[in-house]
Amino acid sequence: MVGKRLPRCRNCGCTFRADVYNRHHQQWCSRPECRRERDRARKRRHRRGRMAREPGFRESERRRCREAMRRLRSRRKRVGSAPAAAILPSVPADQLLAGLVSQLADTTDPGVVAEVMGRYAERGRLLAVAPRIRGSP
Ligand SMILES: [Zn+2]
Repeated sequence: MVGKRLPRCRNCGCTFRADVYNRHHQQWCSRPECRRERDRARKRRHRRGRMAREPGFRESERRRCREAMRRLRSRRKRVGSAPAAAILPSVPADQLLAGLVSQLADTTDPGVVAEVMGRYAERGRLLAVAPRIRGSP
């Protein structure tokens, strides 16, 4: 087989060893993304042919797409017009922080939560005033 040129894939451009019995037809390699692209191309070609040949199919597709776009637009409109307050409940910040610390510390003991919050506050204070040293990240 030395000297024979291997076919190139239409999708990725790599050379591949074609099936012995299908060499004259095969234009795609067997990589999964190339097989997917080959199937997409085949479906596009099939659909385009049906759209050109069959008026009934063309009309039903037009109706289906119009309906799908109408649903999509109304869904977007609904999501876009919903106020943020309806999605995120408004809660007092101190309660939210205590709940978060309680969850992080895995405790419901108010004393432990207060102690952990104190440590976090101290850590935050240190971070806020940390001097920038040349050469440090
Ligand atoms: Zn390929």
